[in-house]
Amino acid sequence: MENTDVLIVGAGVSGLSAAHFLRKMAPGLNVVLLEKSQRVGGAIRSHREQGFLAEWGPHGFLDNAPASQELLQDTGLEAEVKKAPLADFHRYLCHGGKLVQIPQKPLRALTTPLLSPAAKFRILADLWIRPLAEDQTIGQWAGRRFGKRVLPLVDAAISGSFSGDFNRLSIDAVMPGLRQLEHQYGSVLKGVLSRARQQKNDPKKGLPAMINFSQGLERVVTVLARDLDIRLQTPVEKLERTAECWQLATREDLFSARELVMALPVNGSLGLLAALAPPPVERVPVSRIYNVVLGFSDEGVIPPGFGYLAPECEQRFTLGAMFSSRMFPARAPAGGVLIEALVGGRRHPERLELDDAEIITRVRQDLAELLDLPQEPLLARVLRPEGGIPQLEMDHPAVLAYRRKLEEQAGLHICGFGWDGIGINDMTRAARKAAVDIAQGSRGEEKAEVKPVYF
Ligand SMILES: Cc1cc2nc3c(=O)[nH]c(=O)nc-3n(C[C@H](O)[C@H](O)[C@H](O)COP(=O)(O)OP(=O)(O)OC[C@H]3O[C@@H](n4cnc5c(N)ncnc54)[C@H](O)[C@@H]3O)c2cc1C
Repeated sequence: MENTDVLIVGAGVSGLSAAHFLRKMAPGLNVVLLEKSQRVGGAIRSHREQGFLAEWGPHGFLDNAPASQELLQDTGLEAEVKKAPLADFHRYLCHGGKLVQIPQKPLRALTTPLLSPAAKFRILADLWIRPLAEDQTIGQWAGRRFGKRVLPLVDAAISGSFSGDFNRLSIDAVMPGLRQLEHQYGSVLKGVLSRARQQKNDPKKGLPAMINFSQGLERVVTVLARDLDIRLQTPVEKLERTAECWQLATREDLFSARELVMALPVNGSLGLLAALAPPPVERVPVSRIYNVVLGFSDEGVIPPGFGYLAPECEQRFTLGAMFSSRMFPARAPAGGVLIEALVGGRRHPERLELDDAEIITRVRQDLAELLDLPQEPLLARVLRPEGGIPQLEMDHPAVLAYRRKLEEQAGLHICGFGWDGIGINDMTRAARKAAVDIAQGSRGEEKAEVKPVYF
């Protein structure tokens, strides 16, 4: 049996970040990462083909989260960052079969054709609607506070992040910070305005930028993995708490440690943690999406901006598409443009059963109605990531209560994909907290953040 100070299960961005922060805060500790696959990075993986650079999973993260910024500074990656500022890039909603710009600033929202004057007026009713104590789906919550006519916009925002169904996701699990604001001020608008007033002199206020790298997002995990003790192809199959330590079994080996960090996607952890206490659900639902990578010659006219999203009511095959080479021009070779279109999601897993040729044809038909693209692409590739995005649905508050109890009673640290969030910035924040708790030998409480909604 191999003994160490800290074992981290999973070498995705969560496990790698936890190891990085531990090395920084408690350099005397021996930290070993156990990773199932033969590569690090988990969902983060870049794809290069014919001079185009695409992503299997995440396409970037925003530059407004302290833990991620600390990682970039510590590793020197800050100097390599490529930024696409939200303020300079439009986002579009597919609305009535056409792309319409989404207003990014409150005053622009007053003139947007996406909402009728009555729908805009109805949003103000939020000022008088009393908050409900009980959890609701995001659809119920947004419809009650702001009116049903804003729902296509909310749907698009949710499918752009969770590729989820807003009629199933829990508002308490997805936006706990916003809910606290709603309860504190009695209205979301009042709370948001009050926060904006408090942050008036904050030099960091304003819209953030999307970050990526000239070698793709994989660059972050490659750099983070340097000099760490990572055991690849070492899937943990069983865990046990003895009087003195944690014992983890893989098929061939046994590892033990004083401290344990579980940095797996929520379902991976639930499966192993069931040996300590039965979880409230066997599995959290997962939404899978495929990325259809389309490279065209620059005869293709892509509107300036990040891309578009299509709410379910538009009944389109494609969930939305990123105008990747608009955001980061080096993602296409000279004379080319790159679009990455997303298919599937919580509502349409059946589309993932289609073969590549059918998916590409259906996506191209869909895009041809919205964009002016050449007949034939230079590159057409369907990337089919194995994992999906965990969905924080109505059972999720019970899942979080289970985690809290287990952390307190069994004394382990649980972070990773789909516990308190799904974005990279959520992962680095939770991983940092696990490292701080281990380094300080105590458990800190963190305030729920009010996460801004970006389309
Ligand atoms: C299609 C898609 C698009 C996304 N887009 C964005 C985006 O644009 N922006 C953004 O911020 N976020 C995005 N995300 C979310 C982002 O990818 C995740 O927040 C992040 O990658 C999760 O990191 P993680 O380390 O917690 O989990 P993972 O990346 O899943 O890593 C977990 C690791 O644990 C390993 N593992 C699993 N089981 C075991 C075991 N039993 N023993 C040992 N190791 C094990 C796995 O092999 C894996 O390497 C997207 C995700 C997906 C799937």
